[in-house]
Amino acid sequence: MVAKAVGIKKMSKSQSELWQEKLLRNYTDKQLVECLDCGRMFRQVGSHVVQKHGYKTAKMYRLKHGLDYKSGILPDDLRAIKAQHVRCNGTIKNLAKGEIYRFKKGDGRASKIVSSYFKYKRMNKNMGVK
Ligand SMILES: [Zn+2]
Repeated sequence: MVAKAVGIKKMSKSQSELWQEKLLRNYTDKQLVECLDCGRMFRQVGSHVVQKHGYKTAKMYRLKHGLDYKSGILPDDLRAIKAQHVRCNGTIKNLAKGEIYRFKKGDGRASKIVSSYFKYKRMNKNMGVK
């Protein structure tokens, strides 16, 4: 007699599950960054949190989780690749244009960024977002 599997369907994996498996297979842990909201791994978590978790900006995600809000969250190898790109395509020259926005600790302009985070939290609370 042949045993039949009755009522057991093989679950198909979603696109995001397949994508996650591909990432984990092709990259080491040091080449991926974990999303602190959902635990999934990414090459660039900033774009993920804006698209999937409703943050207005990746900076808001970094502020919420107490990360350094001034620098992006990238694995070292990807940071090196991007640094090479900006040198090759000339966009590194744009840094000079942003010089007016740089400030040192204690500068009165610095508090505006922190207050914008509290404004963001207050805004979300009023809208019922945790
Ligand atoms: Zn996530």
